[in-house]
Amino acid sequence: MMNAPLIIVGAGHAGGRAALTLREEGYAGRLILIGDELHLPYERPPLSKGVLQGTAELAGCTLCDSERLAELGIEHIAGNPATHLQPQQHRLQLADGQWLAYAGLLLATGGRVRRLPQEQAHVLYLRTHDEALALRSALKAGTRLVVVGGGFIGLEVAATARGLGCEVILLEAGPRLAGRVLPPVISEALLALHRQYGVDVRLNVALESIQTDAVWLVDGQRLPCDLVVVGIGMQPNTELAAAAGLEVGQGIRVDSHLRTSAPGIYAAGDVCEFRLGGEYQRQETWRNAEAQGRHAALNLLGRDVPFEALPGFWSDQYDWGLQAVGVITPLTVSRPLASGGVLLFYLDADQRLQGACGWAPGNSVAKDIKLCERLISAHLSLARASLADPELSLKHLLRG
Ligand SMILES: Cc1cc2nc3c(=O)[nH]c(=O)nc-3n(C[C@H](O)[C@H](O)[C@H](O)COP(=O)(O)OP(=O)(O)OC[C@H]3O[C@@H](n4cnc5c(N)ncnc54)[C@H](O)[C@@H]3O)c2cc1C
Repeated sequence: MMNAPLIIVGAGHAGGRAALTLREEGYAGRLILIGDELHLPYERPPLSKGVLQGTAELAGCTLCDSERLAELGIEHIAGNPATHLQPQQHRLQLADGQWLAYAGLLLATGGRVRRLPQEQAHVLYLRTHDEALALRSALKAGTRLVVVGGGFIGLEVAATARGLGCEVILLEAGPRLAGRVLPPVISEALLALHRQYGVDVRLNVALESIQTDAVWLVDGQRLPCDLVVVGIGMQPNTELAAAAGLEVGQGIRVDSHLRTSAPGIYAAGDVCEFRLGGEYQRQETWRNAEAQGRHAALNLLGRDVPFEALPGFWSDQYDWGLQAVGVITPLTVSRPLASGGVLLFYLDADQRLQGACGWAPGNSVAKDIKLCERLISAHLSLARASLADPELSLKHLLRG
């Protein structure tokens, strides 16, 4: 296997970042990046924002262009997914039948949208660039849109669709928006903002059926519509790994070094289940794909470093921005911001900052979240009254 290439399966964000990092870190051997999509590796966040608004194009979302890939000697095999993996033989097969031997392998297969059982032409989903284009051409001023799901994808689609002049109803099965990942106070703020922008948000509702001209709820309500967008989460693409006998839980399970249960095989990104704060979990975020893609590349090169990056995410809706870093703990301190937003701090029992979440106009909360990141790393014990005081700058707290 000495002369076999390093192979990355999944030419998305984590896979693309890993390939680029391998070259940046001096790996000069053969490097193959295998994708099932036809595009260069790209970042997905603009899909529900700029791409849907028509202000961003695919070229602006890719991690690099094809000239750069060629220059770096990264062999990008597009539209030809890996279909079988034989960890013991250190080889895998692609859809076109060819077998490839590998010296080291990274599985960065991401996920696909969860779909409703029945496929219908006016029911759209959003995960890929091609799906974003299909949705973009369907969203016209006056289109009556029903969004199913009040998580980030559903909320961002609703916000963008309102900006394009659509009439939007958003259906959420739970009692609050993005309830799985956001604290109640920010769910409330999101709800108020969407209603202010004219989205008819319905909480605690259950879908009965989708007809060609309407959505029916179980309570008998009929919601006339032209288009339905479903954003009810994603399913990690674990099948290749599971069929090869790798340990799989809610994702491909890895240890602290992003190693799967099979020697020489790593996993990174949305598909990867790793321990965070003692619990196995997956992170479906840009930051995680970026950090784990980079990290897996280092460990493929034998650096043997544990993955310890802080988790984090952001979301942009209308002219407001949400950002979070670190982990949520039960001990919360809230700081009102002059902008009308809010910053939440999560502390451990020793009053050390473990996480923060901010919601404010534009990108203004980014600065605070950066400082929170530094406060988390500094492991300082912080007075709750100081954290709550908007007059006291976080820079000041950092100085101890
Ligand atoms: C619309 C949208 C908006 C988002 N917005 C934000 C945001 O604002 N902030 C944020 O933090 N995060 C956001 N995210 C999440 C973020 O984009 C993802 O976490 C990130 O893309 C994950 O990267 P990945 O490489 O793990 O997976 P992916 O980007 O999904 O890449 C995996 C690739 O592998 C391919 N693949 C799967 N199986 C195979 C196979 N057998 N062979 C070959 N290829 C295969 C897949 O088709 C895909 O191309 C958003 C996601 C979406 C969909």
